[in-house]
Amino acid sequence: MVADKAADSTETKNKKMDVLHSTQTVVKTALEKLGYPDEVFDLLKEPIRMMTVRIPVRMDDGSIKIFTGYRAQHNDAVGPTKGGVRFHPDVTETEVKALSIWMSLKAGIVDLPYGGGKGGIVCDPREMSFRELEGLSRGYVRAISQIVGPTKDIPAPDVFTNSQIMAWMMDEYSRIDEFNNPGFITGKPLVLGGSHGRESATAKGVTIAINEAAKKKGINVKGARVVVQGFGNAGSFLSKFLHDAGAKVVGISDAYGGLHDPDGLDIDYLLDRRDSFGTVTKLFNNTISNQELLELDCDILVPAAVENQITEHNANNIKASIVVEAANGPTTMEATKILTERGILLVPDVLASAGGVTVSYFEWVQNNQGFYWTEEEIEEKLHATMTKAFNTIYHTAETRRIDMRLAAYIVGVRKMAEASRFRGWV
Ligand code: GLU
Repeated sequence: MVADKAADSTETKNKKMDVLHSTQTVVKTALEKLGYPDEVFDLLKEPIRMMTVRIPVRMDDGSIKIFTGYRAQHNDAVGPTKGGVRFHPDVTETEVKALSIWMSLKAGIVDLPYGGGKGGIVCDPREMSFRELEGLSRGYVRAISQIVGPTKDIPAPDVFTNSQIMAWMMDEYSRIDEFNNPGFITGKPLVLGGSHGRESATAKGVTIAINEAAKKKGINVKGARVVVQGFGNAGSFLSKFLHDAGAKVVGISDAYGGLHDPDGLDIDYLLDRRDSFGTVTKLFNNTISNQELLELDCDILVPAAVENQITEHNANNIKASIVVEAANGPTTMEATKILTERGILLVPDVLASAGGVTVSYFEWVQNNQGFYWTEEEIEEKLHATMTKAFNTIYHTAETRRIDMRLAAYIVGVRKMAEASRFRGWV
């Protein structure tokens, strides 16, 4: 189960180490396939810059608590680095490093003028007050202010952070900079220079990827049986989009368990009852485990929660013919191999979840130009970007006879490697 993972912190740390190693392994293979020499991998295997900060926050009971935060900047050869900040008790330096590499790959896949970055703070926002969260958000920005900025590194929301947190961070940065600086961060509320469609962008992008994958597999999304693991930002919007498109969402879950109904769940009812951290199953008695959920009979499976959910232990039991990774790193390398051999179309995280950073880019462009687009314009641009990325990667996988993950890494790493070489770095 997802919740059990946090219980054993050594196990969590080891898994995160594995995530970094497997990311590095695929990056290495992708660079070899592109014919780059070893020093290019040596540069790209770790972030070029990694900052660890200590953030003192006065808590509501009057005590001072010191939090640890990180900001990783993977590679800025193409442009400023970009990526979210997560607030989670399991955040580790290794995880933030791996996530920054993933952000570089995502930016390359959807062809944005960015490199990857990522931030994280070790904390449990579920147990903090609004005021404490504001103090933590502002403290983090003060601590990293020298290495971030609209032309250096642009943060955004991630796990357990939202538009309110982005607003506090933007306000703090603007105070330090002494002028209003909306382009410093994306995922802001609309009134502060946010973009239409940003909140649901990751899920919209996943929906587009699902539609493209379904076409390849000859599956009609209308009437298809879908299972979504995770009911956070991505999982909840996604369930709604698929439900509205006529798919039958037969399973959903949160960190505490899953719900299953072969006739389709009442998604609007569940959305109404979920809390802001995506918890809903606690209200029901007849729940199943997250592991059982993954093995349900369905056409499309979307892991939209956390890392390492599909492993060599359960990959053979997956019934879906399409697996679309809305979470970062839900499938291990061994499981990727098994699923691909079984003829299951696996749409990798760096492609499927790239809609979020794509609309973040649109937000940043709008901030820079001071002219704002309509929701329809954003949707059209996102659709064009995601469809092109999906088909480029699908074509790369077909012609090179490789799995979709390696194909996505090849597409994602190419521009960054080329830019690093042109600059004379490697
Ligand atoms: N946190 C999101 C991601 O992992 C979005 C990052 C961004 O918008 O910069 O893709």
